[in-house]
Amino acid sequence: MSDAATTPMMKQYLAMRRELPEDVLLFFRLGDFYELFFEDAKTASPILNVALTKRNGVPMCGVPHHSSQGYIAKLIKAGKRVAIGEQTSDPVPGKIVERAISQILSAGTVNDLNLLDASRPNYLAAVFREGKKFGLACVDHTTGEFEVAEFKDAIELADELERLQPSELLYSDEQRDVIEALGSPVAALAVEGYLYLLDQAEHSLTQHFKVQSLDGFGCQGLRASICAAGAILQYLQFQLRRSVEHIQRLRVAQISEVVLIDAASQSHLELVNARGGNQHTLLSALDRTCTSMGARKLRHWVLHPLRDLDVLTQRQDMVSAFLDEPILLGQLRTLLKEIRDLERTSSRLSQGSGNGRDLQALAVSLEVVPALKTLLDVAPHSDGVAGDASARSSPHWNGVVRHLHDLTPLCQEIQRAIADEPPMQIKEGGVFREGYLPELDELRNASSLGRQWIADLQNREIERTGIKSLKIKYNAVFGYFIEITKANVGSVPTDYHRKQTTVNGERYITDELKRMEDKILGAEERSKALEYEEFVALRGRVLEHLARIQETAEAIAILDSLGSLAETARLFNYTRPVLNETRNLFIRDGRHPVLDQNLASGERFVPNDITLEPEESRLILITGPNMAGKSTYLRMTALLTLMAQIGSFLPVASAEIGLVDRIFTRIGASDDIARGQSTFMVEMNETALILNNATERSLVILDEIGRGTSTFDGLSIAWSVAEHLHDKVGARTLFATHYHEITALAQSRNAVKNYNVAVKEWNQQIIFLHKILPGSAEKSYGIQVARLAGLPENVIDRAKEVLQQLESGHQPAESVKEVPVPTSVPSKARKKAKSEADAGQMDLFG
Ligand code: ADP
Repeated sequence: MSDAATTPMMKQYLAMRRELPEDVLLFFRLGDFYELFFEDAKTASPILNVALTKRNGVPMCGVPHHSSQGYIAKLIKAGKRVAIGEQTSDPVPGKIVERAISQILSAGTVNDLNLLDASRPNYLAAVFREGKKFGLACVDHTTGEFEVAEFKDAIELADELERLQPSELLYSDEQRDVIEALGSPVAALAVEGYLYLLDQAEHSLTQHFKVQSLDGFGCQGLRASICAAGAILQYLQFQLRRSVEHIQRLRVAQISEVVLIDAASQSHLELVNARGGNQHTLLSALDRTCTSMGARKLRHWVLHPLRDLDVLTQRQDMVSAFLDEPILLGQLRTLLKEIRDLERTSSRLSQGSGNGRDLQALAVSLEVVPALKTLLDVAPHSDGVAGDASARSSPHWNGVVRHLHDLTPLCQEIQRAIADEPPMQIKEGGVFREGYLPELDELRNASSLGRQWIADLQNREIERTGIKSLKIKYNAVFGYFIEITKANVGSVPTDYHRKQTTVNGERYITDELKRMEDKILGAEERSKALEYEEFVALRGRVLEHLARIQETAEAIAILDSLGSLAETARLFNYTRPVLNETRNLFIRDGRHPVLDQNLASGERFVPNDITLEPEESRLILITGPNMAGKSTYLRMTALLTLMAQIGSFLPVASAEIGLVDRIFTRIGASDDIARGQSTFMVEMNETALILNNATERSLVILDEIGRGTSTFDGLSIAWSVAEHLHDKVGARTLFATHYHEITALAQSRNAVKNYNVAVKEWNQQIIFLHKILPGSAEKSYGIQVARLAGLPENVIDRAKEVLQQLESGHQPAESVKEVPVPTSVPSKARKKAKSEADAGQMDLFG
């Protein structure tokens, strides 16, 4: 390295490298390549799948500049950050080209479409602890959305992060304990603590938003989140090194407005991610949005159900209005399908990175807005009184429609200017239409005439020299030249000047050719420069309307989400639930929203009722064999409640839902191997969280708690948990259990009710009816289910024998039959056990 480090280029490289944090990989521009050196090259070459070489002892690898995007994407997907060291001066012989870092790319700050999923936001988040509070700031750099929130503990913060799934999560290098408390997510990145200093944060935020204080955003006293927001802004500026003006406001998320769903419940309920594939999530059951802005909005709603009755009623009213006018809904959806991603397009433009295609996408989308406004506009009532009950006349409807801005003049200007198929690049010409700029047309003519002249010259020269294979070619080093094959070199005229010898022949220039070349290249260069200048000016004019474009985009997202809820309600025959502030939860003929849409043809979802209310039935115990439908019933209740609290209609005959403040679930065994905890420990952690946090307004769903330990331990824990929820918490609770003993609780406690899932026994087999009925199940049918699962007959029989002995209070005696029993020849004992078991079953359904 000592030799290499002495070259001026290497010195420049090393200086640039020193400016960067260690984990960042430097893409150093060298002519047509980006090169990586030293450790960077060693890290990157296996990820990029390019060869690691050595020059003067320095390890290096490189990728072509023109295809660098794909390589950068690979590194970012692998969780790396990439700095671009660009050439900033033109090459001059004998002088080293100047270079500077143009930007640093990372998962949370990219806006390259190939790296982004249009249907979900791409968050960069920062966390910070200040005193007892945990602050969170979160920006979607692709849309300009910027939000802060504060939490009372790391668990609540972790839940919110689970919802947001940030691509990059910043924390102060002085607060490693915070990130550990959050389970050290893979996206975490330590940044220097000073970025989080309160004064510094306030200063950079007020400067950015051009305000005196942050109070106008409602941030008074939110010190932890202001520090986090400041860190985010400074990080963005450091990374992007360009304007982030599309971030126009800071929103304080009101956690108290949102139904809290802890991280475990989010995953149990499969809201946006599902084990069986993402087509089986609640989101996918509801998402019929037509734009990516709408898809992102609906996703946000699903993850942030509301407690605010007014807002929910407004959403319901709008859904209802669309259902009343299915033609209107159809037309709305047709128009929405024309609209592109206005949010991400305008963000790219505002950071100086957009291109002609972005302007075009903007125009195409804005063009639809007037028609959208006309479609949705409420005809003014002549008497000035709000007319019929139609939600079309509600202030909320008007509020949304009012934010659709008619930007027709802007849209027309773009359409007049931008070519039909503009290129990705903005410096290579071809962005503008012919006839838009007379000066540009002239320059373009000059260069195309010039090219024609070259073609004519080639013909003239072939004729003059008699060399048929004579060709005029162009390359970046020599410009235009005449190429003559070896065989014809003898016939070259004397006015040709030889420039270069190649394997196959010689290359020449003439004075005439060089004169013309200056003209052609000059015109081309000037026309490209002019186009770039014009593009920047037009982009500037467009960005003067940025705030109105963003408002329009937001209104479109809301309309699209509501339209999607209405479309789903229309397709699957949903009903509007009654929402109120009671603690009731009544559902008649409820269907599981996801299963209802995904059952195989011929199958039908068996609808079920739910009655939960504070006095008579606030804790429901459900017993019944495995596979009967208990979990489905539990999940259905949680999902229907959640859907109601995003404003959706429900797959029910009717429903009344008193708004809940939180939904807790403890379902199945979700092993947390990563944290090295046992199933039982995870289960108890989740149960503790519920008991410590549930209120009388919460909905609690418990599926088979106490399973992970011995029977008596498990039963006692399940029992006392049920008692505590009933007596102390008073939350609406569904409790599925295989401990039949617990059903005795209903005798001593008023508001505990027993239900069971109907099964029919026939010919030693059981048939699941999936119907939830009052009363407790009398047996568990575990042995029958085991038979269904294919356990060998002799094992089944022995199990029955042991069961009987246990039930009669005895230790299981040694099997009376010899072991092993051949499955095909039933022994006497086996027959006996069988007939006893059968007799036991007979009276069950009598
Ligand atoms: P459990 O929790 O009692 O073991 P599940 O709720 O997992 O049972 O249900 C078992 C299977 O029965 C599910 O996979 C589902 O396909 C089906 N199922 C459950 N409830 C219904 C229903 N109401 N209608 C139709 N199929 C159902």
